[in-house]
Amino acid sequence: MIISHRPFHYRNRRLHCDGVDLTTLAAEQGTPLYVYSAEQIIHRLSLFGEAFAGRAHTVCYSVKANSSLAILRLLAEQGAGFDIVSGGELERVRKASKAALKRIVFSGVGKQVWEIDAALKADILIFNVESEAELALLAERAKLLGKRARFALRVNPDVFADTHPYISTGLREHKFGIDIGLARAIYRKAAKSAWLDPAGVSVHIGSQIRSVEPFAAALKRVLALIGELKQDGMDIRYVDAGGGLGIEYGAGPFDPETQVKGYAAALQRIFSEAGLDPHLLLEPGRFIVAQAGALLTQVLYVKKNGAKTFVITDAGMNDLIRPSLYQAHHEILPVKQSKGAEDVVDVVGPVCESGDFFARDRAMPKVKRGDLVVLLDAGAYGMSLSSNYNTRFRPAEVLVEGDEARLVRRRETMKDLLGPEILT
Ligand SMILES: *Cc1c(COP(=O)(O)O)cnc(C)c1O
Repeated sequence: MIISHRPFHYRNRRLHCDGVDLTTLAAEQGTPLYVYSAEQIIHRLSLFGEAFAGRAHTVCYSVKANSSLAILRLLAEQGAGFDIVSGGELERVRKASKAALKRIVFSGVGKQVWEIDAALKADILIFNVESEAELALLAERAKLLGKRARFALRVNPDVFADTHPYISTGLREHKFGIDIGLARAIYRKAAKSAWLDPAGVSVHIGSQIRSVEPFAAALKRVLALIGELKQDGMDIRYVDAGGGLGIEYGAGPFDPETQVKGYAAALQRIFSEAGLDPHLLLEPGRFIVAQAGALLTQVLYVKKNGAKTFVITDAGMNDLIRPSLYQAHHEILPVKQSKGAEDVVDVVGPVCESGDFFARDRAMPKVKRGDLVVLLDAGAYGMSLSSNYNTRFRPAEVLVEGDEARLVRRRETMKDLLGPEILT
């Protein structure tokens, strides 16, 4: 398999991440281990900057895709803003970069009082409000704290995005956002409040979307609404186009630069048609970090059950749940390059669930106990969706910077796992 557009490559028949030999790294840090390329993350961010040059914009990286403090700091140093969905993510951004607090957009359907208060005090850029009840609460908290809250309604444009149903969000039947047909009236009412500043309109139609049409269709509806709100006298300065730009998880051809350029061209066309020029906010998550990362794991056993061969790895669904949750495909490569025979196998973890698998009936080079393999494209929704199910330690994380590998999260210990529990 050709490992294009990813930081992973063979050198002397050993898999490397940029300049770092993964065999050596596994010996030093153990497995399972998440490995990320700083260079690839910065490169992906820069693609947005280049494609949207000439338009006032801020890339607000979606923290939930991978919330590692080291990655947040790396992105903040490049000037990125952040899309957060909880008070916990707000604290992560604060810890990574105080200067980035003012570039935060706060999304999410269930914001709590303490989270709203913390974001108001931090003077974030804008709240993406998802219901009238939330808007009322925001006004109440803003008044109490003596702040004027900048907000955008997250509208639901009723656009179908062809992706996995669990990560599609732009239809009326989804829990997200406010029906775009109702938005104008809500803005008008909110504009009367001294504590609310109707500063933007936002939309996010889902994740892992591979064609640009739904993004363009959603933006078109949003800009039409902004036109109406301007007629109503509102100073709408921001349009948030959300995240959701997809990647190629398989071995197929994929050029990230072409992808972002096509996306930008589609959005730019809609802007020109509408004759509006608000500051554009973008919330990519997956596109920036997914392919920069991989999960490095060791083969524990190879076993045959009837006609099936199972490769059992020391990583499981608690470490990377995407295959189990979304039937997601991840390419799997042996760390030692092999030109030998292939086998058709199921690659599974040690967790006590039949859903604990990484690949089914996958043709791959024969591996044996002790061999290392990597699951590619695990940088997004990997570690951030991990758990301690089966009382397993979550993986350690390493950030590769050129030839250097830096441990950015140590492996958990038994004390981390049992610490919060109370026995009388
Ligand atoms: C999850 C999410 C994103 C990021 O989606 P990606 O597919 O990772 O780009 C952006 N905005 C909102 C509101 C989200 O919920």
